[in-house]
Amino acid sequence: MEHVEVRPGLRIQFWGVRGSTPTADEDKIGIGGNTPCIAVQYANEPLVIIDAGTGLRCLGQHLNTPEHESVRVSILFSHFHWDHIQGLPFFPLLYSERAQLDLYSGVPVDALRETLEGQMKEPYFPVPFAAAQSRRVYIQVQAQGCEIGSLSVLPVKLNHPSGATGYRINSPEGSIIYVSDHEHGRTEIDDRIANDASGSDLMVYDAHFTPDEYPQFKGWGHSTWLEATKLANRAGVGRLLLFHHSPSRTDTAAQLLLAQARHEFSSTDLARENHEISLAPGIGAGASEGASIV
Ligand SMILES: [Zn+2]
Ligand SMILES: [Zn+2]
Repeated sequence: MEHVEVRPGLRIQFWGVRGSTPTADEDKIGIGGNTPCIAVQYANEPLVIIDAGTGLRCLGQHLNTPEHESVRVSILFSHFHWDHIQGLPFFPLLYSERAQLDLYSGVPVDALRETLEGQMKEPYFPVPFAAAQSRRVYIQVQAQGCEIGSLSVLPVKLNHPSGATGYRINSPEGSIIYVSDHEHGRTEIDDRIANDASGSDLMVYDAHFTPDEYPQFKGWGHSTWLEATKLANRAGVGRLLLFHHSPSRTDTAAQLLLAQARHEFSSTDLARENHEISLAPGIGAGASEGASIV
C-alpha cells in the first residue's frame, strides 16, 4: 500500500516579496528580488497561490507534481499591475495539458481573461495565452467569499490605483490575511480591513515605504511599516509580515526598519523569499525555515 504523508496545518511559502519591479542587486538578495507570489497550502489539499509575480516562476520550478497525473492549482489575483502577473507566462503548469488553473480575482471573469491575455499578446510575448495547453477556469470572488477545499476565502477591498483585492483565508487550523497593495488613510476602507483582519494568525501587509519616504509618494497606493504595526495592534493579529518591499530597500535598511517596527509590534518579521511559515495545532504562527517543497 502506498504511503502518503499527511501534512498538518496551514503552510505559507513566500516565493516573491519585492514590490513594483524585480531586482537582482547584490545588497537586496537576502530578502529576495522576485515580485509578489505566495503559496498557501492546507494539509495535502491542492495549492492556492496569491499573486503571480515573478516569484511564480520559481514556485513552478519547485512544484513536485507526479508525472501523468492531473493537477489543480488556484491562483488569487490581487490586481493586474505587472509585478503581480509577470510570472504567469513563465509558470510551467500554464503549458501543461494535465493542469487545471482556477483563476480568481475581484473583477468580472471576462475582464480577468482579457487582462491575462493582454500581457501575452504580440509583441509582448511569443506565445498567446489562449494557446497555452492548461485548462483555465475564471472566477470572480463575490463579497460573501468562496470555498476552495477546506479554505474559506473572503475578499478584502484595498485602496490602490485601479483597485485591488486582498484576501482573508481561514482554514480549520489557522488563518492569514493578505493586504497588498494598499495605501492607508481612507478611514472607511481602513476600518473594514481592520475588521477583516481581526484575530488572524498572520497578516501580510504592504510596507513599501518608510514613514519618512511616504509623504513624497502619497497617492501611489502603498503603505508603511508603521501603519502595518498600527493595524496589527488594532486587529489583534498573531504575527505581522512586512511585504512588497521597495525595489530600492537594501537588506541592511530592511533590518533597521524591522528593529523599529518590533518596538511597535513585537511579532513582526520581514517577508523573505524561500521563507515558510506553518500554522499548525499547538504551534500557532511558528516559523519553520527551509527548503521544503510545495
Ligand atoms: Zn505591487
Ligand atoms: Zn499595484
